Amino acid sequence: MATAKFSKGRNAPGQFCHVSEMHINVLRSCPVCGHARCEILRKQRFVLPDGHPLAGGYAVVCCDLCGFVYAGTAVSQDDYDRFYREHSKYEDTTTSTGGGDTPWDDVRLHETARCIAEFLPDRAARVLDIGCANGGLLRHLAALGFGHLTGLDPAAACVQHTRSIAGIRAEMGSLSHIPAGLGTFDFVILSHVLEHVQDLHGAVAAVAQVLSASGTVYVEVPDATRYAEHVPAPFQDFNTEHINHFSLTALANLMHVAGMQVVSQGVKTLMAPPPNPYPACFAFFRRGGSVQAQFAKDPVLRRKILEYIEISTGKLHAMDEFLRAALPADQPVIVWGVGQLAMRLLAESVLGTASIAAFVDGNPIHHGRFIRGVRVSAPEGLAALPHPILIASTLHDAEITATIRQKLGLKNRIIHLGVPTPSQEQ
Ligand SMILES: [Zn+2]
Repeated sequence: MATAKFSKGRNAPGQFCHVSEMHINVLRSCPVCGHARCEILRKQRFVLPDGHPLAGGYAVVCCDLCGFVYAGTAVSQDDYDRFYREHSKYEDTTTSTGGGDTPWDDVRLHETARCIAEFLPDRAARVLDIGCANGGLLRHLAALGFGHLTGLDPAAACVQHTRSIAGIRAEMGSLSHIPAGLGTFDFVILSHVLEHVQDLHGAVAAVAQVLSASGTVYVEVPDATRYAEHVPAPFQDFNTEHINHFSLTALANLMHVAGMQVVSQGVKTLMAPPPNPYPACFAFFRRGGSVQAQFAKDPVLRRKILEYIEISTGKLHAMDEFLRAALPADQPVIVWGVGQLAMRLLAESVLGTASIAAFVDGNPIHHGRFIRGVRVSAPEGLAALPHPILIASTLHDAEITATIRQKLGLKNRIIHLGVPTPSQEQ
């Protein structure tokens, strides 16, 4: 059996969590089957901006009964709802996904729209996209001839953006707040939504409420059985937002709860962004079968997640060693990027004890927030600071480097995390 094993001693006590087999009852029962007892696979920690509504850590656990893997977080659905209303990174059309505002995201949404259109020949079908972000998928469905398109999103800016697309209706709401009078739909889309949802039973009940009697549901989520095949940054998939780790078995188990059965399913690999592959799985569901669910025990998910933990642990150690060598001993560093990787490195690497002159991020949603008392600024606010800049992102390193050198014309030394040796400084 693969278990998470780390060499101890190089880091502060507790900096990396060594987890042995441990079966406990957590605050969050299995969101798929409702069973309370689970096994802790990993304890994940984050440093979050001040006032952030989400927890600074949770245990990643595996349900003893159905084998689903999820975050045993105590954060409530209400707090998640507040987070997605007030902290939505999806509003920013330059860095977020879901709007099709980058060429690679646009290709992804076009392919998803084509897949849906093949399954759903009736262009007069009433389609609802729950968690529509900036409406990119709906735009592609409109281009394929669908005439009754509605989007639902908790962030006001996303709703406004979606409404600006000709012929598309958009409302503010979410799976836990379906607006009154929304109506019923022949086809409901949940694309990269369910991995974010605390109350999954409430979510599938809400879907059943807006689905017509003969309607179809399309669900697409990250494929947790293939996390280990693509690890651009350590524990990238154990983040503040992704609290459910699905396999197709787990997805089918969940939808059984709402009396829905798989009609068709598959796996895909997205590019998010290129050249970084991202594994996803999807399925079409219709009503049918017994509502009294028989939960199938997932045969592979636990083992695959443990593989992922082992690979991520090795990468986290490598990054920590790199930072120990690369961070300047005699002056503070500027940290560019306050995304998931930065939150993990602040909690679980030497970066947590480094002197930080400023945080910088391109997404305006972060500006003015404080992390450990240090303000998050816009890139334009950096001009006067001479300190080295650590790019705390592996996925966006190239574009951030271009912004620093070409757009801002800054000469600061750059430390690139994506390349794990100090000789890679630019
Ligand atoms: Zn379960």
